[in-house]
Amino acid sequence: MDIQLEMAPCGYFSILDTGIVQSVNQTLLDMLLLEREALVGRHIETAMSVTNKLFFHTYFYPYIQINGHVDEMYVSFRTSDNQEVPVLLNGVRQERDGQVVIDCVVVIMRKRIEHEKDVLQTKEKLEQLYQATSEANKQLERLHEEYELKQQELLRINHELEVKATTDPLTGLRNRRYFQESLQKLIAEYQETRVPLSLLIIDIDHFKHINDTYGHPVGDLVLSGLARLLQRLSREGDVVARFGGEEFVALLPGVEQDEAIVIADNICRTVSKTPMDNYQITISIGISTVTDTDTEQTLLHQADLALYQSKAGGRNRVTHAAHSAAS
Ligand code: GH3
Ligand code: MG
Ligand code: MG
Repeated sequence: MDIQLEMAPCGYFSILDTGIVQSVNQTLLDMLLLEREALVGRHIETAMSVTNKLFFHTYFYPYIQINGHVDEMYVSFRTSDNQEVPVLLNGVRQERDGQVVIDCVVVIMRKRIEHEKDVLQTKEKLEQLYQATSEANKQLERLHEEYELKQQELLRINHELEVKATTDPLTGLRNRRYFQESLQKLIAEYQETRVPLSLLIIDIDHFKHINDTYGHPVGDLVLSGLARLLQRLSREGDVVARFGGEEFVALLPGVEQDEAIVIADNICRTVSKTPMDNYQITISIGISTVTDTDTEQTLLHQADLALYQSKAGGRNRVTHAAHSAAS
């Protein structure tokens, strides 16, 4: 055997079909901590554990007989001091000098196995991490959904509170606070766009008499009935509210003086012909229409003066501030 093969960086051995070792290089002997005489002339399985011997018999010999070669077969040798030496074995069965021999090379697999173990462990750790991350993500999604639901609930409750805070409990109409906010907003809009705006103050005539004659609960029924009727007669965009007591207000955006008088007349007539829970009432209305110099206070004051005129003029009637004696 030449020196290159003797000291090659892999183990080499050559056996007969019977498994008897013909030759072996120094690298393999060093690997197995054996002297040459301990292997040459003996079965190669001498350097294997019992289970590896069985494996070798079952797979190696039949395979190489049929195919003439084996590639990358995992086997384990055993050193003279009983240490396992896992190797990768390539073998080829060929004729040399008139004799059939099986030439084999083996490479130690220890490092590769260690490396594979590392890779496997890293993979397992990554899988665990991935699972933990995906569970955390799911939890985050659940929390996010919960948060969204709570936020929607909060918005709903806020809206309910907002409605409650701006609604008159007896009549269900908007209350004075909402009216004041709307008045402020619509006057500001008028100053920007010059879209006209009219205000009606509606007051029940001799309402005290209804309370005194039929009792306060009947008075309440009448107030609710009138509120429903006013709401029914209003158009989209109008703000109808209870101003207080038996006084109501209506803000009519886009409505000029003349149209406001027509609308108010219609309301006045309709109320006088519509019994509220069998009690017939009439109303008086004061109207004002916004001008360039008006503020919330002046617009309300004008309408109030006009209402006073309607009352003084005999009630069940409509007066526009522009036509009232006081203006
Ligand atoms: P006028 O034609 O001059 O408006 O006479 P009036 O009797 O309608 O006016 P007055 O201001 O003298 O009386 C208003 C009455 O409205 C007095 C008050 O008891 C009654 N009132 C105010 N708020 C309520 C309410 O919420 N329910 C009931 N039933 N009555 C109310
Ligand atoms: Mg009144
Ligand atoms: Mg009244």
